[in-house]
Amino acid sequence: MRASPESRAAAGIAVTASTATPAPLLPRRRRATFLPFAPPLVGQEEIDEVVDTLRSDWITTGPKTRRFETEFAAYLAAPGALALNSCTAALHTALVTLGIGPGDEVVTTPMTFAASVNVIEHTGARPVLVDVEPDTLNLDPRRLESAVTARTKALLPVHYAGHPADLDAIREVAAAHGLAVIEDAAHALPARYKGRLIGSGPNPVAFSFYATKNLTTGEGGMLTAEPALLDRARVVSLHGMSRDAWRRYDQGGSWHYDILLPGFKYNMTDIQAALGLRQLEKLASFQRRRRQVVARYGEGFADLDALELPVERPDVEHAWHLYALRLRPETLRIDRDRFINELAARHIGTSVHFIPIHLHPYYRDRYGYAPQDFPVAWSNYGRLLSLPLNPRLTDDDVSDVIAAVRDVVRVNRR
Ligand SMILES: *Cc1c(COP(=O)(O)O)cnc(C)c1O
Repeated sequence: MRASPESRAAAGIAVTASTATPAPLLPRRRRATFLPFAPPLVGQEEIDEVVDTLRSDWITTGPKTRRFETEFAAYLAAPGALALNSCTAALHTALVTLGIGPGDEVVTTPMTFAASVNVIEHTGARPVLVDVEPDTLNLDPRRLESAVTARTKALLPVHYAGHPADLDAIREVAAAHGLAVIEDAAHALPARYKGRLIGSGPNPVAFSFYATKNLTTGEGGMLTAEPALLDRARVVSLHGMSRDAWRRYDQGGSWHYDILLPGFKYNMTDIQAALGLRQLEKLASFQRRRRQVVARYGEGFADLDALELPVERPDVEHAWHLYALRLRPETLRIDRDRFINELAARHIGTSVHFIPIHLHPYYRDRYGYAPQDFPVAWSNYGRLLSLPLNPRLTDDDVSDVIAAVRDVVRVNRR
């Protein structure tokens, strides 16, 4: 049973504005069906490949997983790739492989999904948050120097919404202090920073194939890095078993294995890889569609001073995982939560990326954060919402989103 707002308030649980604000009036015009925020786009090709896998003798990690790693690495011109069961697993594996643990510090951003920071906690290291840039909402490299201490071991930037973080400035700080750079590229497939694809360098970069991401295997992830690091990561990610022990049921494989460390169970299955292989073939066309939708949103909202549109800096190629709008509160009579309710009443699904890490009870209480400790993340959070952006959107769907947003702005203009 869900607690009422009153009982939640009595229990000291924050009652959000979305439960406290009245339901919006029914708009005069709305589309007939609800437009979901980010449904997956899976075709007959993926279905056939999964069925083929199920009819084969390899349903866990096997030849398709290996092929997916090879083809993914080739797609990005990455030095190597390790397929795992999530981006969270890829980040955790990278941290552990680099030997990060209790007493260490890892610097990251508050403008991310909790997984980026939870994995730092899992290692026993301390996550150190650094505020974000006002335009991209990516970790602000100018604030890094003051966050680095003698205990700092790594920097963990997140390419927010698919817009690459300022990697040159981040690498400069890393080089000056001998730090690793682990990139959370859950949103950044495919994205380019100064001409180079994210994931093509030697440092660990973690991708997500979660159901809502630009490429999906239902659940899944990939770690790219130089081969020597991946060799160790492969052991860490599969029980700590000696290399290639996964082949032990193969003809000519040996029953023998050694446990070299207490590793994890993070391997990808061939069922997931079957989806990934077919999705990868479609990624370029998915991205073309995402860019078309972004261009139409840009035209459709250009004249609305109530909206701040997402940026794409000239030296990057955006992966456009998210279309994160920011409201200009001084122009509107309603807040962000009400804006979302008004769009839902017009049958448009939206989301918010993200509730900044330092506002979550665990991190707030453990590290004693106040909302204003990261003022850029905090102030932008209050006016952020993400519109549907996915390759399933039809031209009519995009028109419906634009019309609904324009209607909400028109009706609620200050
Ligand atoms: C989705 C996401 C993750 C986690 O990805 P999983 O594959 O679900 O583990 C990590 N970081 C960010 C920024 C994400 O959006």
